[in-house]
Amino acid sequence: MSSAPFLVDIGLNLAHDSFDHDRDAVIARAEQVGVKRMVITGSSLVSTEIAISFVRASPQRFRCTAGVHPHHATELTFDAASRLAALTTAPEVVAVGECGLDYFRDLSPRDAQRAAFERQLQLGADCGKPVFLHQRDAHEDFVAILRSWRPRLAGGVAHCFTGSLEEARAYLDLDLHIGITGWICDERRGLHLREVVKHIPAERLLIETDAPYLLPRNLQPRPASRRNEPMYLPHVLGAIAQSRGDSAEQLAAITTRNALELFRWPA
Ligand SMILES: [Zn+2]
Repeated sequence: MSSAPFLVDIGLNLAHDSFDHDRDAVIARAEQVGVKRMVITGSSLVSTEIAISFVRASPQRFRCTAGVHPHHATELTFDAASRLAALTTAPEVVAVGECGLDYFRDLSPRDAQRAAFERQLQLGADCGKPVFLHQRDAHEDFVAILRSWRPRLAGGVAHCFTGSLEEARAYLDLDLHIGITGWICDERRGLHLREVVKHIPAERLLIETDAPYLLPRNLQPRPASRRNEPMYLPHVLGAIAQSRGDSAEQLAAITTRNALELFRWPA
């Protein structure tokens, strides 16, 4: 397997408890198919602290983000925000987030989501690291907030992008990167993405699994478990390359370079 291209999974929730019983095997399987570096998503203070501990144990393989998902926006009290501020400055942390707005599930009130989002954009501006962004069914509010902060931010990625071409263009106009997951493999919900990815400049593309979520629906044979793993990242890459008419090898090289540049992770 030494010829497998070197890939970076820029978003996986490795602190998730579904990995507790076999996390080392999950990582070994990913490495075998070329997924040699991974950015672990921090989506709460607790998961951020766990993610940092994973990076410390394996710094050649991991980096992480530090943030509070919009679902948990009400947890970002004044005290929690100052703890998060300290975490964002850790050397293991390469981005602030995931942060943003999720009006699809509305698990936190929308005003709390907007406040937590802006608080984290401020942290991104303060620490000078890019932001790792989550948005669902909230595009207009999200872009309006982001547009006002963008001049102070060191870049960012619209992670798990599932939107329309217009939404993609709005992010590209803000000079952001766009992260594509196995959503593109979904024959019910992801077909439009196969068109949208043709219009994203290669130097703005990033790839991610968002594991354990979003298992690609067209894996053959179908895995016994519905849990997604970073070893399926080459499958996501292949779907994007096929949609764009690119070679998977070239797209691997470009997306890996994009990830290492955005997150300032020396090759
Ligand atoms: Zn997300």
